[in-house]
Amino acid sequence: MATVPWSTQLSTDLAKRKAAGRYRSQRIRESAQGVNIQLEGKSLLSFCSNDYLGLANHPALKQAFIDAVEQQGVGSGAAHLLTGHSRYHQQLEEQLAEFIGHEKVLLFSSGYQANIGVIDGLMSRDDVIIQDKLNHASLLDGARLSMAKQYRYQHADMSALSRRLEQSTATAHKLIVSDGVFSMDGDLAPLPELLNHAKKHDAAVLIDDAHGLGVLGKQGEGLLAHWNIKAEDKPIIMGTFGKAFGTSGAFVAADEVTIETLIQQARSYVYTTAQPAAIAAATLASLKLVQEETWRRDKLQTLISQFRAGAQALGLHLMDSQTAIQPIVIGDDKKAIEIGNTLENKGILVGVIRPPTVAEGSARLRITFSANHSEQHVSQLLDALEFANVH
Ligand SMILES: *Cc1c(COP(=O)(O)O)cnc(C)c1O
Repeated sequence: MATVPWSTQLSTDLAKRKAAGRYRSQRIRESAQGVNIQLEGKSLLSFCSNDYLGLANHPALKQAFIDAVEQQGVGSGAAHLLTGHSRYHQQLEEQLAEFIGHEKVLLFSSGYQANIGVIDGLMSRDDVIIQDKLNHASLLDGARLSMAKQYRYQHADMSALSRRLEQSTATAHKLIVSDGVFSMDGDLAPLPELLNHAKKHDAAVLIDDAHGLGVLGKQGEGLLAHWNIKAEDKPIIMGTFGKAFGTSGAFVAADEVTIETLIQQARSYVYTTAQPAAIAAATLASLKLVQEETWRRDKLQTLISQFRAGAQALGLHLMDSQTAIQPIVIGDDKKAIEIGNTLENKGILVGVIRPPTVAEGSARLRITFSANHSEQHVSQLLDALEFANVH
């Protein structure tokens, strides 16, 4: 059989992707992250970051980072289990455990690594993992890596979850996995009901609270506080610092035996360099602001209500989301890109999300809000959506 050179094989696939409107590429941001950004020489009003509380460029975080760099340098130089675990990392783990209300916390270098580490670290070949179809890619990847049997139920369908639990062998370890706030839809996992099913079948539960942490709960404790979950019912929680916390990295919070197991068995924890101590120092500063500055969450809610009322008045079809993630489904990929471009020409940047990140035929504008937006900014967004004739 005649073969095609390797580079031709790749470029053929890339050309196909381009033709399908699925090509992705980076764009260069010249300014700091924020609501007004410079992107490739253009000044844009951005509704396109996960910096929900507006902390990514906060002076207190910058100062904490700089001070820690002066003391500890830049690189952590080793994994946590060698000499990479600084006193800042330790302090952050202790304060987070208190904040979330779990016995122990373990830091990971990113949310992606935390998710593959926790799933692969706890589950193996004869086990069963049951997850929501709309879960983040890293949760699906973790399950694949673990070699456990994996089932995916229709989004938030608790009777489908229950059926899968009934069908699973009684002796298999079972883990139910769900996003807390769904990253592309903005809605919440039906946690109380999910926990009831888990209890009935002695299944463990892992909640990825990347988009709930800092945003939900009185002090930003996340989804557990939102649903008022009792201490003894708390599932394993994964949270990230790259979103509302405005820094970088992630953690898993759980009881002591779970965390000890992860220290021994989570390969993405053991075999990677610890994040710089200065990142942990900045995250400590962020944790303080997240807890104390409740006005940031209040402001966010005000902006969300203003947006939803305005969008409804324009006849836009909103999703069932009360969070900072407010998607507008367009459907067709190319049409979504076109609308994104029209908005950008009006100076407004929104996320344009296409398959495979979302299901076929559900390309969407992913609009996200930050406590640093003003009501004036939201009005500008609504005007631009009206102009772009989105329906
Ligand atoms: C962003 C995100 C992650 C990954 O976190 P990183 O720290 O960016 O690697 C995991 N889960 C969800 C739901 C996310 O939105």
